[in-house]
Amino acid sequence: LQGELAELVNEPAVTTDGEQLRLFANTGLLADISPGIANGAEGVGLYRTEMPFMVSETFPSEDEQEYIYRQVLEAYAGKPVYMRTLDIGGDKPLPYFPIIEDNPALGWRGIRFCLDNSSLLMTQLRAMLRAAGDADNLRILLPMVSNTGEIDKLRALLDDALEQLAEEGIAVRRPPVGIMVEVPAAISLLPTWASRIDFISIGSNDLSQYLLALDRNNPRVAAAYDHLHPAVLREVARIARFAQDSKLPLSLCGEMASDPAAVLVLAGLGIRTLSMSASKIPRIKWLLRSTAAGEAATLAGQVLAMEDAASIREALQANLRERG
Ligand code: PEP
Ligand code: MG
Repeated sequence: LQGELAELVNEPAVTTDGEQLRLFANTGLLADISPGIANGAEGVGLYRTEMPFMVSETFPSEDEQEYIYRQVLEAYAGKPVYMRTLDIGGDKPLPYFPIIEDNPALGWRGIRFCLDNSSLLMTQLRAMLRAAGDADNLRILLPMVSNTGEIDKLRALLDDALEQLAEEGIAVRRPPVGIMVEVPAAISLLPTWASRIDFISIGSNDLSQYLLALDRNNPRVAAAYDHLHPAVLREVARIARFAQDSKLPLSLCGEMASDPAAVLVLAGLGIRTLSMSASKIPRIKWLLRSTAAGEAATLAGQVLAMEDAASIREALQANLRERG
C-alpha cells in the first residue's frame, strides 16, 4: 500500500462518483512545511500559531512572527493558509505566561484571552498581514468564539491594523476571516454570524469535549471521549446543513478528519474540505478515492439514527472492512 499511496500525491481526492474534496494539512511548526507539501496538502487548513509562541522564550515580536508566518505563506503560495489567532489557555499553556485556573477548559483561552490582551492580538494581526503582503492566500481563523461581540471586536481590530499598515505605506490586503465552530454555543448562532464571517471550520476536538463535557486529555474518561458519539455527529450534520443552505464555506480540522470511519460520515454529510496532520493525507485520499459519496450519504443517514458511539463505530468499521 505504501507505494500505492505515494503515487496518489498529485492525484485529486475525488470519490468514485466524482465528488471532489480538498485535503489540507494542520501545522504549527516550520518543520511541518515540507512533509505537508510532500504528502500533497492542497493548503494549510489549520496553522496553530500557539506553536511558535510555545517554542519561544517570551512573546515573539511582530518582526519575529512576520518572519515565521511568511515562510508558511510563501511555501503554500497560491494555496490557502488558515492562520488561527493565538489559542493558548486550556490544554495549551505558555511556559512564560502561566494561567492558573480551577477550570482552564472553561477559562481564559482562545479569543477571550486575546481580546483581553488586545495589544498582543494587534501585534499578531499586523504580523500576519505583513507576512502576506499582497499575496492572497492568508485566511484568519478565530478560536473558541462563543459571542457575537468577539467577532465584532476582532473585525474592528483588523480594520485598525489594516489602516495602520496603510498609513505606514506597507502593502497589505484584507484577508477573509472565519471562526472555529468548537464551542457548542456557536452552532445556534451561525445564522446570526453568517453575514459577519467568510467561512467556518469545525474544531471537532473541542466541539466533542464541550458537547460531551469530557476532558479530551483526562485518561479516566478517555474511553468515553469519542467524536462518533451520536450527539457530536448530529451537531456536525446540523452545521453542515447550515453551511450548505447559507453557502458558507465549511471545513473540519479536528482529529475526526483523519479517522477513516468518521471520514465516511463527513463525506456523506457533504463536507468537502478536511484538514489533518500531513502524514494522514495519503491514506484518507486513498479512502475517498475508493468511496462513492452517494453511498457515504446513505451510510451517514443510517449512523445518525443510531443510539451510541459503539454501534456507530461498528457499522462504519464493517463498511470499511467490506472494501478491504
Ligand atoms: C479542535 O479543537 O478540534 C482543533 C482543531 O483545535 P485544537 O485541537 O488546536 O484545539
Ligand atoms: Mg480547539
